[in-house]
Amino acid sequence: AWRRLCPSPALILGIDCNAPLPDAAALLDRRQCHFARPQKNYYRKPPEIERGWKEHLFDVEGRAYLDMVNNVTILGHGHPRLSAAVARQWSLLNTNSRFHYAAVAEFSERLAALAPEGLDTVFLVNSGSEANDLAIRLAWAHTGTRNMLSLLEAYHGWTVASDAVSTSIADNPQALTTRPDWVHPVVSPNTYRGPFRGEGSTVHYVDAVAAKLRELDEKDGRLAGFICETVYGNAGGIPLPPGYLKAVYAMVRARGGVCIADEVQVGYGRLGHYFWGFEEQGVVPDVITVAKGMGNGHPLGAVITRREIADALEKEGYFFSSSGGSPVSCAVGLTVLDILHDEALQENARTVGDHLKARLQALGQKYPLVGAVHGMGLYLGVEFVRDRETLEPATEETAAICNRLLELGVIMQPTGDHLNVLKIKPPLCLARESADFFADVLAKVLEEGW
Ligand code: PLP
Repeated sequence: AWRRLCPSPALILGIDCNAPLPDAAALLDRRQCHFARPQKNYYRKPPEIERGWKEHLFDVEGRAYLDMVNNVTILGHGHPRLSAAVARQWSLLNTNSRFHYAAVAEFSERLAALAPEGLDTVFLVNSGSEANDLAIRLAWAHTGTRNMLSLLEAYHGWTVASDAVSTSIADNPQALTTRPDWVHPVVSPNTYRGPFRGEGSTVHYVDAVAAKLRELDEKDGRLAGFICETVYGNAGGIPLPPGYLKAVYAMVRARGGVCIADEVQVGYGRLGHYFWGFEEQGVVPDVITVAKGMGNGHPLGAVITRREIADALEKEGYFFSSSGGSPVSCAVGLTVLDILHDEALQENARTVGDHLKARLQALGQKYPLVGAVHGMGLYLGVEFVRDRETLEPATEETAAICNRLLELGVIMQPTGDHLNVLKIKPPLCLARESADFFADVLAKVLEEGW
């Protein structure tokens, strides 16, 4: 029935939605045969997704799901205005980004206007990993040295430099053994599960950074910079302790280092209350990296920085990306920004996110398995624990809950280093009714006996 009800652009573009559906099991076999690294999957039977509409996904057998994990498709699936913009630009021109065309100037201008004053120079790339690699290279070029501070349990990407500063055990199990000597990780300021908790934890986490910097001083090592997510993402969107970034940025800058804010996941309105995550900490970084939602699923990333930092790279080496900032990418980027604004999606992330958080917190009152509800806007984490005192992670329970949620029509995956957190990052167009549906279904699953 959804095929008739759902006004998908596929229908507008004349794609035959009544064509016979492929066999789901056969498709899964084909993927496993030839796709290099199948997506990490926690489901006993992963659904083969065929189409999407707003926050809903539909599998090849016609079943509907609520998409609660899509941190890329921020506008929602199948947005007709975006589809039309892509189709128009594809038919006009798409080319190597070395050519001169208006969209690249316009898109860079719009990004610079979104960034704090002084961060007015934009590089366009194709992903978050590339953006972080480039940001680290900018810090190297600007300071003439390589040492980078990063946070343990962070994830910044898979390319060489972004991987090196990613020390999340879940995402990168090799990280602890292969980390190059220019990476200096410090304890992650996780206010729920980290070594320091509660009020007053900021000073301990800041001290940990100071101690690491002293170690570096003793080795006479200079500092290129510091990279971190401005809301701690891996564990489900835990805000950093108050004042943490102000103190750390000051120490990094005192040594001439560059402060890089990885906004790949939290930026672009997802937090609802803020457009950028660093606003929550009241700081201004030297370099912002952004990707994921800015292309609504189209490969698009950016580095936004000050002119003098950008210019350092020109002196030390070069930057060129064949498809970064292509005409189609720029058309996508501009249209995403227009839709974010016209449909007030950041505002929706705030109101629907606040409502959903309150509903999830109410579940926490009833079910001891819910250790905490983290995050803000439409970037929330429900952390399951076996014991609220010891915080023993409820890893197996979380996997079972995800499988049951899937049976009931919700797509969700475990995250965090113990895979015991439901990281909630739906499209920002999530309707209040969909948020209620999710909370109702989760309540049903918890009531069933977890
Ligand atoms: N930075 C953060 C915080 C991320 O969550 C991710 C991806 O999950 C990346 C960087 C890498 O982005 P991409 O997968 O687009 O390369």
